[in-house]
Amino acid sequence: MVAVGAALREGLSDMHALSSDDEIGRLLRDRPSETRTYQVTSDLAGRIPLDATGLRRMNEAELSELAEYLDVKVDQLRGPFRVVEAACPRCDRRVTFLDFVKTAIDSGAHDRVQLAEVLTGMGGTWVTIRGRDGGRPVSCANCGQSLRMPGDYSEYSSSSYAYA
Ligand SMILES: [Zn+2]
Repeated sequence: MVAVGAALREGLSDMHALSSDDEIGRLLRDRPSETRTYQVTSDLAGRIPLDATGLRRMNEAELSELAEYLDVKVDQLRGPFRVVEAACPRCDRRVTFLDFVKTAIDSGAHDRVQLAEVLTGMGGTWVTIRGRDGGRPVSCANCGQSLRMPGDYSEYSSSSYAYA
């Protein structure tokens, strides 16, 4: 998510659809050169082997902040929202889904309405698969510091958007 700062770089229109466990498994074993976002069926999304290590559940205040930014009601968001445990080295803000969402919008990759649709479950189900380029940087929603998530794990997930 995403994404999602880093999350969603391409327009949703040129997204590729994945339709089987096999296809996703192949991409995770033999990662493509570029990080890319794919549309998936919702039942398939539930079976994506996300590595939840390091992901924490967002709290109510953080969900409210995200809902306010997207101009939706907090109970419209399709959680649970999980996000990598990380903080901005400059201002100490704890990273949430909002940082990824705001980065995608500020970079012009996506507009707010589009992301609001995805995160409320009205815009399909999506997964971003990290490529050999190492993923996408995200900017701190508070101070703009560029953050690169460390390591080899998923950065965030919700019912309709995930990063693997
Ligand atoms: Zn910051």
